[in-house]
This record gives sequence, C-alpha cells and structure tokens, in this order.
Amino acid sequence: MFDIMIIGAGAAGITAAITAKRKNDELNIAMIDSMPRIGKKILATGNGRCNLSNINTNESIYRNSDFVSYAIRNYGHKEIVSFFNSLGLYTYTDDEGRIYPLSNTAASVLDVMRFECIKLGITIFTDEKVSDISKKDDYFIINGRYRAKKVIITCGGSASPSQGSDGSGFELLKHTGHSIIKPLPALVQLTSDNKIIKSFKGLRIKGKVSVYVNDEEIQQIEGEVLFTDYGLSGIASMDAQRLLCRYLNSEKCSVVIDLATSFSEDDLAEKISAVIQNNPDLKCENILSGFVPKKIGQGLIKCLYIKNNAKAAVIDENTIRRLSHLMKNFRIYVTGSKGFENAQITCGGADVNEFDPETMQSKITEGLYCAGEILDVDAPCGGFNLQWAFSSGMCAGNDAAE
Ligand SMILES: Cc1cc2nc3c(=O)[nH]c(=O)nc-3n(C[C@H](O)[C@H](O)[C@H](O)COP(=O)(O)OP(=O)(O)OC[C@H]3O[C@@H](n4cnc5c(N)ncnc54)[C@H](O)[C@@H]3O)c2cc1C
Repeated sequence: MFDIMIIGAGAAGITAAITAKRKNDELNIAMIDSMPRIGKKILATGNGRCNLSNINTNESIYRNSDFVSYAIRNYGHKEIVSFFNSLGLYTYTDDEGRIYPLSNTAASVLDVMRFECIKLGITIFTDEKVSDISKKDDYFIINGRYRAKKVIITCGGSASPSQGSDGSGFELLKHTGHSIIKPLPALVQLTSDNKIIKSFKGLRIKGKVSVYVNDEEIQQIEGEVLFTDYGLSGIASMDAQRLLCRYLNSEKCSVVIDLATSFSEDDLAEKISAVIQNNPDLKCENILSGFVPKKIGQGLIKCLYIKNNAKAAVIDENTIRRLSHLMKNFRIYVTGSKGFENAQITCGGADVNEFDPETMQSKITEGLYCAGEILDVDAPCGGFNLQWAFSSGMCAGNDAAE
C-alpha cells in the first residue's frame, strides 16, 4: 500500500511527488506514467529551452483566475525559482520576463527533477497507462493492482498526445464522478483560407494583433506572427488562437494585424505619399519595401487591385489612404486550428468548482487530488502554463502529505 500514488509523471506530478516527500520523508510515494520515461513533455517545452515561469505571473493571466489565486500567490515565480535552486538548477530572465534555465536546455530541468526523485526514494513505474481507479473503503485501487491511501491525478490534457497526454486522465476523472469542461486544443497555429497570405509563407513580423469574434474585438496582443501556407503561427497567433478556441466552430473569427506599429495611419499615408512623389517611376510592388517585407508589400498592393508592375505615379491620394488603412488593419479570417496534435495546451478539463483551490483536493472524492493541465486552467505563452503545473503540484503535494 502506497501512502500517495501520483498518476502521470509530468511537470505537475513530479513536483507534487518531490513536495510531498520533502514534507514527510516517512511516506511511501509512487509515480506511474504511461510513457517509457517520466517528464517527456518538459523536454519539448520552450523549443527545447523550457520557459519554466515568468516574472509577470499573476492570477489575472489565467482563465479561472479566482481558482488559481491561492496557488499562484503562495507558490509564484519566486517560489518556483527557489524550488529549482534547491534542486541545483539556476535560471535567468529574458527581456520579456520569461524565466529559463541557465543551461538553456530543458533536459537540465527534467534531470534535476529526476535526480531528486531518485534521491528521495520515490518509486517510479513507467510504460504503464492507468485506465482504472476505484475507491474501496479508505483507499484507492489503481489498475486493479496498486493500492494507495491518496491519489494525485496529473495526467495533463489532450494536447501533444505523442508526449503521453492523450486525454485518458479525463476518463479517469469521469469514472470517479467528476465533470469535465469540453477540452479544446489551445496555443496552436491558426488556419485560414486567405489566399494572399499564402504568398507571405515563412515571413515573420512583429505586430499588434487584435482578436475578433464577429464584430467584437476581444483582446489585443503584441508579438510575433509567422505566416505559413496553412495560416498563422508565431506566439501572437497562438495566443490569439487560445482566446478564439471556444468560438472557432460557431462564430466568425478573425485577427486584425497592424503591420506598421511604428506609425499612425496618417503618418503612414504621408510617408507612402512621399515615397511615391520621390519615385514616380518605381514599380507599385516596391513602394512598401521600406515598411514591410517585399512579399507582404506586393500582397497588400494586390488586395487593392493595383497592378504590381504599374508605376507608382498611378496611385492617387485616396488609394494611399486605403493602403495605409489596410496596413494598419490587415484582417485575416480564421477557419480553425492545427488541433491537439500540435497544441501546447488544453483549454477545458476538470471543472475547478469540484476542487479546493488551496489543496487541489476533490470536493467529491476525499483523498483524490488533481494538479496541472488536467484542471480547467490555461494561460498564454510565456512560462505561465508550466508555472501553473508547478504551483498546483506543490499545493497538492503539500496537502496530500499531511
Ligand atoms: C511543444 C510544447 C512546448 C511547450 N512549451 C512551454 C513553455 O515553454 N512554457 C510553458 O509554461 N508551457 C509550455 N508548454 C505547456 C506545458 O508543457 C504544459 O502546460 C505542462 O507540461 C503541463 O504539465 P502537466 O504535468 O499537467 O501535464 P503533462 O506535462 O502533459 O504530463 C502528464 C503526464 O501524464 C502521463 N499520462 C497521461 N495519461 C496517463 C495515464 N492514463 N496513465 C499514466 N500516465 C499518464 C503522460 O505520459 C505525461 O507524462 C508546452 C507544451 C508543448 C506541447
């Protein structure tokens, strides 16, 4: 009989195990994971560098902010950095507040966590998927053969199933009487039918992205957009997708990109006008070359049905105004996303109303806890999702060790 069994050994599960064992060394703790090794997803995070937290972490960044408030206030970015320091891992913070390991390698993050588990004597079972949990008297039976006084379910969501999180944790929770808010892929590339942007493939711009559901602007995001043959990638597009994910199938969704953030619309019109006056013989396809990459300039000219090889002098004042307006408000209708296979996180999951925000313990099944992405909590790119996995893992580990 284990005192605590942790189901799913990712960022949240490993943190919960270390926290519980450090609190009470007497406890017999086990982790079980369906993959051949623990914490595989950590290796893929931050493009292999693991953006493990962010100095701008606060509860308002998260969906279900009331629920996350206690965990984030008590186990915020400072506590996470201290936790990693205690494991022997040091960090740095980039200009945008994102925290990375000093080694710039995600493998270091996983290594220090693994070494600590081994040092603490935490039992690890790998290559074993949990498909059944039941409660008998005051203990749980897992896969019909393990017994544990408490279980912490940290199976993640459905995003990036090749790294182990295939949504099976939601089924375990349903069988124990919990409600699941419909899981959707989030922080994933957006798809679009827009033909003009196909010619922008491979180009990156730093712009301001306004996110629209029908005619309503729901948020503005500043950051990088990468144009692709299927639509939009880059951090700002993935963050936009997270905001749109609940509407993509039912509403008209679009993003409006400001392709010239340095200028107001009037300034831009003046500057384009000056380019034309100074170079009346310039081909139209080149008049925006000083503002945006050439292919984007060509596409914008095409949008206004101006011939690329016509001379600049054909462009009148009214067309210049329309051009500057288009550059400041380049709208792209989006049709969907690249799905769970490519998603970084899941939006949706275990209904947070059924869990105690201070302990992550279920209000339905005593002794059952959840932490990390399996809960209906999500945040933009920037280290906030791992931060949540660590914070909630600490809450659960601390309480389960009582
Ligand atoms: C490519 C990529 C890059 C990312 N980059 C960042 C980043 O830089 N910063 C950031 O903050 N976030 C990032 N994220 C998101 C972040 O990785 C997740 O939010 C975080 O890993 C969630 O941790 P978790 O422990 O809750 O779940 P997971 O990390 O998904 O771990 C769940 C574990 O449970 C196991 N499991 C699942 N079902 C079962 C079962 N039935 N039985 C047994 N075991 C099971 C899985 O094998 C897995 O090991 C990224 C995600 C991806 C996919």
